[in-house]
Amino acid sequence: MSVYEVGLRLRGKTVLVVGGGSIAGRRVPRLLEAGALINLVAPEATTTLSDLAASGEIHWSAREWQPGDGADAWFVLAATDDPAVNAAVAVEAEAARTWCVRSDDAEASDAWTLAQTEFDGVTVGVSASGDPGRAAAIRDSIGAALRSGELAAPRTRGRGRGAGVALVGAGPGEADLITLRGLELLRQAEVVVSDRLAPQELLDQLADDVEIVDAAKLPYGRHTTQEQINAVMVERALEGKFVVRLKGGDGFVFGRGAEELDACLEAGVPVEVVPGLSSSIAGPAAAGIPVTERGVVHDFTVATGHVPPGPQSKVNWAALGAGNGTIVLLMAVKNRAAIAAALLEGGRDAATPVRIVENATTKNQTVRPCTLASLGETEANHPAVIVIGAVAGRGREL
Ligand code: SAH
Repeated sequence: MSVYEVGLRLRGKTVLVVGGGSIAGRRVPRLLEAGALINLVAPEATTTLSDLAASGEIHWSAREWQPGDGADAWFVLAATDDPAVNAAVAVEAEAARTWCVRSDDAEASDAWTLAQTEFDGVTVGVSASGDPGRAAAIRDSIGAALRSGELAAPRTRGRGRGAGVALVGAGPGEADLITLRGLELLRQAEVVVSDRLAPQELLDQLADDVEIVDAAKLPYGRHTTQEQINAVMVERALEGKFVVRLKGGDGFVFGRGAEELDACLEAGVPVEVVPGLSSSIAGPAAAGIPVTERGVVHDFTVATGHVPPGPQSKVNWAALGAGNGTIVLLMAVKNRAAIAAALLEGGRDAATPVRIVENATTKNQTVRPCTLASLGETEANHPAVIVIGAVAGRGREL
């Protein structure tokens, strides 16, 4: 059976949804996104749907469907678990020349919901001769190919975004741990200012005409590299380009995101911040270590170890040593012995479990177990997160 695909532009138009179960629950958010006015008729509804009704985002008549309910509808979804009711809804819709989707019976349905996915301004709808499982599988493959950049095409009606900067956290290492938002903006970038720890594969997928500025290779002379990075971002944005500043992990966790944000704000450049998965939490997680655990530890601290304990460090190592929460150290490979000594001096038990997680989330991930007493002599290679505390000794090996 063949269908004719259309895209319904539902803004401000009434859609009747009959039935308040999981199918309606899955369809309604998408209908709302398209701007439809939802009229839900169902004696009972899922929590999500009743929450939407309570907040006024949809209108809910908490009763059985009755003839006439579809009078002002442009489109009808019959999604009850009673085929007789769905059939009656469909018959009324047909008499009124209104398109109706029956969720229970594709053959008897005048219209089908396509398996759909959306990425970077492209919407794809798939139907497969009434085989919804196959349509969903194809939809998933197309969605994955769009997100990976395997399926791509330049915009023919101008770029989707105006000039500005997006500060994007690329995640802890593996390329597919960037957020969907981050990836979408990266695909739209005209200039990408990248970091050593940002996944290289993300850059390999960019179109040839995208300018890639390698922040690690900027010449600095009279200025610091950070000033150079800020200057490049701002200059390109002022030239009218859309710039993505791509950082490892989350840009606001030891990532100088604050300085970059200030530079954009001071220059009056529009700026968006896209959070990333920080290695401080994702690194331990990838090694099977939760940073908190109910009944075990109720706090965690993320500290940088790039400055050793002493007058230069802003970290209160004695207080961390005296506490009993999880300590996650970044940039601490070089100073790990001095940090361990300071924590012991503060009162931490020498037998406190420690895990060193190198290259977390990537195919080169390595986990080295030790204790606070042996941390100084245990091998550790950059980049590594060091997790200290009871959660590191729970023996969950992945
Ligand atoms: N903004 C980043 C951290 C930047 S500081 C974030 O939120 O993750 C750089 C430090 O992060 C490294 O010295 C290391 O301690 C840690 N790090 C980053 N990526 C890592 C990875 N894949 N594995 C282990 N540690 C990592």
